[in-house]
Amino acid sequence: MTPRTAIPAALVSPPDPATLYAMLARLKLTAIRDQLDTLLAEAARRELTLVETVAYLCEREIARKDARRIDMALGLARFPMVRELSGYDFAAQPAVDKQQIKELATGRFIANGESLLLLGPPGVGKTHLSVGLGRAAITAGYTVLFTSATTLIAQLVKAQTQGLLDEKLLHFAKPKLLIIDELGYLPIEPDAAHVLFHLISRRYERGSILLTSNRAVSEWGAVFGDPVVATTILDRLLHHSHVITIRGESYRLKEKRRAGLLTASKQIDQSTTLSPQGVNS
Ligand code: ADP
Ligand code: MG
Repeated sequence: MTPRTAIPAALVSPPDPATLYAMLARLKLTAIRDQLDTLLAEAARRELTLVETVAYLCEREIARKDARRIDMALGLARFPMVRELSGYDFAAQPAVDKQQIKELATGRFIANGESLLLLGPPGVGKTHLSVGLGRAAITAGYTVLFTSATTLIAQLVKAQTQGLLDEKLLHFAKPKLLIIDELGYLPIEPDAAHVLFHLISRRYERGSILLTSNRAVSEWGAVFGDPVVATTILDRLLHHSHVITIRGESYRLKEKRRAGLLTASKQIDQSTTLSPQGVNS
């Protein structure tokens, strides 16, 4: 065990709890302030040295600040549902490489200002993965904003008619990661395509975009109703990008079918097993 260090007498003035709490509050060390007695008792129980005790107090303070920051960032991100990457069934979706998702979850692509496109038919987990990656990005310290393509476009167009486009562009350009979900479900009017282009240019090489779409990149000309705008948008999105194309059928349908198959095999078991006690349920 490290030897205990004696505190120089000059530093030990008679402890006045109120003054101490006020100092901790002024330094915004609120976790230490709120739990000082408990933390010190714990440090004594573990026989920590002074240096270890200071480190322990700092650790608790950082843990509280991190938890607060994450809570606040999760609120600001406006995720439409709670989904974690840990809840994603990679075995059910061989088109998605678990290692690649793990790497993306570190947030390095955000630090590099790269974009990520998740493409595929409905129900294959594009929104699930984008929420999971968004949460991972927040844990890694990035700011995130989630929006559906329809809401994003509606807000930009509305802001434009009110002469507030710059403010709105700033709002969507600010977060380090902007998640735009479900591009292509509805056709985009030429005006809307234009403001979307503004936003993507504004974020280009400064912030990341995670975009999900049920349409292949080759169909984007039709989505935007204008192949030139589509090409210009794609040009910026694809410049530094990761594209994951998910194939296969909807996860929910697959689950239902699997449940159906299980029921069917159980019925076969029961009808072919002579002793009902022997049936595994
Ligand atoms: P998409 O956005 O591609 O239409 P969603 O992400 O909304 O699909 O997925 C539909 C539902 O199925 C969600 O509840 C999601 O959590 C679930 N889901 C989809 N794929 C998987 C998977 N591979 N593992 C676990 N849940 C999944
Ligand atoms: Mg979706």
